[in-house]
Amino acid sequence: MSSYPFTQGESGMSCAVATCIGCGCDDMHACWDEITETPCSWIRLDRNSARGVCSACPEHVERWDNGDREAQVP
Ligand SMILES: [Zn+2]
Ligand SMILES: [Zn+2]
Repeated sequence: MSSYPFTQGESGMSCAVATCIGCGCDDMHACWDEITETPCSWIRLDRNSARGVCSACPEHVERWDNGDREAQVP
């Protein structure tokens, strides 16, 4: 009888987890990008403010590029 440990130690990560301003997903909880059928990835990312725009939210890139980094999670 063996039980697998529930956590896999990944302690080397930096503490800031970036959150998508469009849908609220983050590094630990990627959403599904239905266009490419892969987990989303960052198309914009600012580690300093811990914000980003993921590939499932391309409509927010323009906003981001205009300097608006407010989260507008529905
Ligand atoms: Zn998103
Ligand atoms: Zn996402």
